[in-house]
Amino acid sequence: MKQFLADFSLAELAAIFSPEYRAKQIFEWFYRQYGTNFDTLTTVSKALRSELSDRFETEALTIAAKQTSVDGSEKYLFRLADNHTIETVLLLMREGETNDDGEPIRQAQYTVCVSTQVGCKMGCAFCMTAKNGFVRNLTAGEIVSQVLAIKRDHNMLPEKGLNIVYMGMGEPLDNLASVAKATQIFATEAGLSISPRRQTISTSGISPKIDELGEMNLGVLLAISLHAVDNATRERLIPLNKAFNIESVIAATRRFPIDMRKRVMFEYLMIDGVNDDPRSAKTLVRLLGNIRAKVNLIAFNPHEGSSFARPDRAKMEAFQRYLLDHGIVCTIRQSRGIEIDAACGQLRERHTASEIVSHETISRESIKQRSMMLRMSARSFSFVLPRIWCSNS
Ligand code: SAH
Ligand code: SF4
Repeated sequence: MKQFLADFSLAELAAIFSPEYRAKQIFEWFYRQYGTNFDTLTTVSKALRSELSDRFETEALTIAAKQTSVDGSEKYLFRLADNHTIETVLLLMREGETNDDGEPIRQAQYTVCVSTQVGCKMGCAFCMTAKNGFVRNLTAGEIVSQVLAIKRDHNMLPEKGLNIVYMGMGEPLDNLASVAKATQIFATEAGLSISPRRQTISTSGISPKIDELGEMNLGVLLAISLHAVDNATRERLIPLNKAFNIESVIAATRRFPIDMRKRVMFEYLMIDGVNDDPRSAKTLVRLLGNIRAKVNLIAFNPHEGSSFARPDRAKMEAFQRYLLDHGIVCTIRQSRGIEIDAACGQLRERHTASEIVSHETISRESIKQRSMMLRMSARSFSFVLPRIWCSNS
């Protein structure tokens, strides 16, 4: 059976096709020229081209659907070889918008939010992905291919820089080997050349895996989905907290090696009447102590069957003000994702197509067939936006 080229690191390819420069030629053709048909790999011999096409498949996924939001961001639905689907979002942050450090950006930037699993085992009470359970881990190649397919689809210049956030479907640290391998394939200079410092891994808090990731010294950034400041509330929201409580997650975060110029991001999902009170803000300041942290407040994005509600904007602003006044970098993720979220996950039910500028390659009939999978990730457009939608608008 053929293997996916994207599942191979440069070192692995070099071990098969020595000398190393040959592996580099293959990498460059694949990641920088967006090659898909080995016949176009003219820098190597015909014999090698034919060996490559006998051994490898170049496309680990295909675009099943695409939605473009009014702000230029795009949501992709990718179909994997086994017919499962996953979502990936390309976020555009324009000049003058505010980044997740609260600073205005000087040049338009792209961030890709990748999925790491089909579904998720963690069962968080507020999360749409959780409702549909776990199907399987993605391979490193399937993670890498999400970004490659988007760059190719946009005909982006190969050298066009991107940020990557591992905040799509799935728990990245529950699939650590593939995620770690993907970070390295992304970073390979002959390939996409996306530095680890531009890659942020988000976790619901598997403490031993945070340590394991830290020990790998990959140089990536860390985001912790905290969402609550006391264990009773956090357990209610994230069942995993029973195994790894707030104290253990914070302790593992403190041990995590991070570039001194960077910060650990704490995502704090705000739910009306659950965790949005002034006392929680106070406890959060105490918990974060001397960690180089930045807090990203996210309004709960409602979805079918959920009993939670969004808090008032005023409550969120008061919460943010308290953190800022106590020296913690804190941003509020912008809310325009809600409508787009609805458009994605509940397209059929809600008919919110007015928020969608273009909707390609998928018919209404096929949307019906895929609606279950789409619903699975209905929330993603509002939570994947640490740069573009984290500003304080
Ligand atoms: N599993 C990882 C990464 C994917 S989830 C994690 O939990 O960190 C990425 C982010 O989406 C998390 O911060 C998660 O809490 C948030 N999220 C999930 N459901 C949401 C919802 N309904 N509204 C807003 N954010 C949500
Ligand atoms: Fe999984 Fe993250 Fe959703 Fe929790 S919030 S169920 S960890 S994807």
